Amino acid sequence: MATFKAIVIEKTEAGQTVGLKDFDAGDLMEGDVSIAVEWSAVNYKDGLAITGKAPVVRRFPMIPGVDLAGTVEGSSDPAWKAGDKVMVNGWGLGETHLGAHAQKARVKGGWLLRLPPGMSARDAMAIGTAGCTAMLSVIALERHGLTPADGAVLVTGAAGGVGSVAVAVLAKLGFRVAASTGRPQQADYLKRLGASEIIDRRELEGKPRPLSKERWAGAIDVVGSTTLANVLSTIRYRGAVAACGLAGGMDLPATVAPFILRGVSLLGIDSVMLPQPDRELAWRRLETDFERAKLAEMTQEIELAEVIPAGRAIVEGKVRGRIVVKIG
Ligand code: NDP
Repeated sequence: MATFKAIVIEKTEAGQTVGLKDFDAGDLMEGDVSIAVEWSAVNYKDGLAITGKAPVVRRFPMIPGVDLAGTVEGSSDPAWKAGDKVMVNGWGLGETHLGAHAQKARVKGGWLLRLPPGMSARDAMAIGTAGCTAMLSVIALERHGLTPADGAVLVTGAAGGVGSVAVAVLAKLGFRVAASTGRPQQADYLKRLGASEIIDRRELEGKPRPLSKERWAGAIDVVGSTTLANVLSTIRYRGAVAACGLAGGMDLPATVAPFILRGVSLLGIDSVMLPQPDRELAWRRLETDFERAKLAEMTQEIELAEVIPAGRAIVEGKVRGRIVVKIG
């Protein structure tokens, strides 16, 4: 039986193990499209899967990796044929379905997107789920009615993957961007991406008050927990927060005061089960509203064998921007 290289997470009586292994092609899960994976990425969720820090893996063995780009090798779905350049983000890859950190994948045809025209597979993965989520967050704020004239927008966890793309997109759209980071050494990086103000993240880590001084017209929050509660209490009248992450925790120690006294909206962002038309819109917007020149500075490239330490680093908050994985 043919095998291919993959990062494999297994559960034994002694606990979870993870390693680079030869994976039996016959053990790929059901799906109507087979893909030669060429590029992937390391996202925060992959770090959670690799370290076992949170129970994101729902079956074992599991191949982590929520993002893949590659070439169709075979398809029983008439929408796809051998040679098509495709990508998948989410849909349970790396959680319930064998994921992207492997040379081969078999997935459902309905999960696939065509690579945006003019975007290489490497760029698509460098943007990846994190970049798509940043764009979805911006779209949510726009749908709420936020415009640059309303005032500055705060981005938390700004030096990470979602944060970096969010800062760059908001700046390109003309918003004044306040970038909150725990890494002051990344201030110049964030300014090059388009931030006009750097906020020390400790400012958002104190005990949240129901309402604080109104500071920002809107926010994109990747941190959750106390940080999100503090962000909510500082949003201006009728502003909005797009909440997409939990890097600081899953809880939300907030009150309803911002909602009922300032008309603030909390907008939930999910990229995993998002309907395809919304994904296509986000990727179209990434083509026009994200300066690709900024991608080089926010991206580091690694090989499949380096995914495990990269997964550990991302949950420790040590990764700047994005990690793209060369596989093919
Ligand atoms: P990264 O690790 O690249 O970025 C997260 C950033 O958050 C870090 O770089 C750091 O920024 C900050 N941070 C990390 N730990 C803490 C902490 N304990 N307290 C406060 N700030 C912290 O991850 P991503 O940007 O890829 O993902 C961010 C979050 O978004 C994750 O929780 C991820 O699961 C979620 N996500 C959600 C998606 C969805 O569909 N809703 C899709 C993609 C991601 P700094 O050093 O600048 O302070």
